[in-house]
Amino acid sequence: MTLDSTPSHLPERLARLEDLAGDLWWGWHADARTVFRRLDYGLWRATAHNPVRMLRLISRDKLDAAAADPSFAEIYDRAIGALDAARAAHNTWWTNTMPHVSGQTIAYFSAEFALHQSLPIYAGGLGVLAGDHCKEASDLGVPLIGVGFMYPQGYFHQHISAEGWQEESYERLNWADAPIEPALTADGKPCITAVPLGDRSVLVAVWRVRLGRVTLYLLDTSLEENAPWDRELSARLYGGDRETRIQQEIILGVGGVRALKALGIDPGVFHLNEGHAGFVVLQRIRDLIEQGSSFDDALAAIRRTTMFTTHTPVPAGHDAFPFSMVEKHLASCWGTLGANRDRFLALGSYDNGGGVQFNMTALAIRSAGSTNAVSQLHGDVTRAMFAPMWPDVEEAKRPVSAVTNGVHLPTWIAGDLTDLFTRYLGAGWIDRHDDPALWEGVLAIPDDELWAVRQSLRRYLFTFIRERARQRWVEEHVGIPRIVAAGTLLEPEALTLGFARRFTGYKRPELVFHDPERLARILNAAGRPVQIIFAGKSHPADDIGKHHLQRVYKRALDPQFGGRIAFVDDYDLHVAHFLVQGCDVWLNNPRKPLEASGTSGMKAAINGVPHLSIGDGWWAEGFTGANGWVIDGGANPDNPDAVDAADAQALYRLLEEEVVPAFYERDRANVPHRWIATVKQAIRTVAPQFSARRMVKEYAQRMYAPALERKLEVRS
Ligand SMILES: *Cc1c(COP(=O)(O)O)cnc(C)c1O
Repeated sequence: MTLDSTPSHLPERLARLEDLAGDLWWGWHADARTVFRRLDYGLWRATAHNPVRMLRLISRDKLDAAAADPSFAEIYDRAIGALDAARAAHNTWWTNTMPHVSGQTIAYFSAEFALHQSLPIYAGGLGVLAGDHCKEASDLGVPLIGVGFMYPQGYFHQHISAEGWQEESYERLNWADAPIEPALTADGKPCITAVPLGDRSVLVAVWRVRLGRVTLYLLDTSLEENAPWDRELSARLYGGDRETRIQQEIILGVGGVRALKALGIDPGVFHLNEGHAGFVVLQRIRDLIEQGSSFDDALAAIRRTTMFTTHTPVPAGHDAFPFSMVEKHLASCWGTLGANRDRFLALGSYDNGGGVQFNMTALAIRSAGSTNAVSQLHGDVTRAMFAPMWPDVEEAKRPVSAVTNGVHLPTWIAGDLTDLFTRYLGAGWIDRHDDPALWEGVLAIPDDELWAVRQSLRRYLFTFIRERARQRWVEEHVGIPRIVAAGTLLEPEALTLGFARRFTGYKRPELVFHDPERLARILNAAGRPVQIIFAGKSHPADDIGKHHLQRVYKRALDPQFGGRIAFVDDYDLHVAHFLVQGCDVWLNNPRKPLEASGTSGMKAAINGVPHLSIGDGWWAEGFTGANGWVIDGGANPDNPDAVDAADAQALYRLLEEEVVPAFYERDRANVPHRWIATVKQAIRTVAPQFSARRMVKEYAQRMYAPALERKLEVRS
């Protein structure tokens, strides 16, 4: 591999490769992925599937060879044709369903977006949800733009010390390798906007990310003109203290609205994804008052056109700041709003257990026209949790609805399954994937064919795990225990459970070790081995989470488990793809009801990896009795120790009596029919219902379109 040969230009025949690489649309389209995979398979793997970087590094010989290969050119032409078609804004689901609100824009604000591993501006589930929402909006033609942060150092990379302790490192992103470009204003100049912060003004640059029809705008303070501490404001996601956090949120909300204005974009609806974006409201009220509105009129107008999605079922998880801190950093933000300062502060005033503070969720709820939770159960929890907000309204009537999360199917489905479904569900199935009737076709797939694909996907996972261990061994010279813990003793044919999620207390990462002897018997059963692969990061400030992680790591090295426990480090979108596609069972055992929704189990289920989970979040509505298993120890929820013990027993019983026997019950051809029946039910029931397509259509029909109608009504 030559690492320094930058092609000055591309072969004429492949002139649009750069365009294709620069639009993350390629990531969820099979032909476009094939283009880059075939262009240089070694580089494809070495760059963790980063076409922008590939085109910087690829040799001219490989490009010329591809240009001269008719079968390559055919796929390339198909991919480019599909990209052009995907960028067209007419004849989409949105234009066909909502013609009366055409020409409007929806601005979707989020502190993180998980689109692809080459753009490390996400930490976990919230970002994945935002990324999947934008991709689906692109597919459906929903006129959405995203607004977020370009974190030059992203979220941290996880390293595990020889003692199993998580260490964090931040890498400065190489901008030339990222699918971003400066956002330009109408007169063709890079968009830079000023945000008042404290007693100064901070400059914010704006980057553009392309996703087919959807564009994302990312704010960045790392400009020469800013003071060093202001340059650092956008450096890292969730990296700083409270002071950093509130300043980031002011930049996201106030700066985001200003950036859109500078770009000439006037959204009809603002969708706030989690409370981080609440300060959008501040800038919008200011603008309206400047145009002559009263505070009440401004607030009413904003309520008509703002919607808020809340994600956190724990009171302490909601961002809140002392009023003094808010006043300090908003000092020069007030402007014409100054006379109504107290009224604005009252919008966020809320006591979530630690005294009255300025609460971002309260601000968003009070200034949005609609608030929604992310699963039906989470809706119940949110209505109860924010009771003081509506003192006279009985619980069921409190204005919080629910739109259950979904995952972007084209992003998360395995290529081998895509091909299998094309054979049995028909070409073009992916365009109809939220139609439950389509998925009845899965029942007709011959068991042995589906099983063969499942076996392949597990093997890809083990190849990935082994290659990663080899890299740590060869390049990083880690010790032998790390190589064992990384999963090198795992068996490619054995029943494999996946547990990949943030390491934090309520997710109970150690629950499965509650009775180590019983677990060891399950894992080491002769002829019916079971193995568990763990992955996940702890928040840098969460020492309790890091201790959980360390103890799991030590279990991986405990000989009594036979090398059948592994910990895969540095969980990200890339690792997630291999795990949700390659495991056999997806394990989730949070303390109910603390999982708002969860989405990794959906990604697994659509790939034929049934969910073995507490009936929390989405699984409370997703479980049908035949598409996976519910862990329910049935203990009194007021006694956490009893709950843990009972849930662990329930988990062992399910493994011993249901999961393991079904997996190892084979016919003469070694096909597990009973197992495949569950696999088929998982795919059939989860793919249409828990897709981002169903979710975005729901947002569009229940919230976006009505808000746009209200806006247009008032105007006429
Ligand atoms: C899907 C995903 C998550 C969220 O999964 P949960 O089930 O909500 O915990 C987090 N991180 C990554 C990298 C993911 O792909």
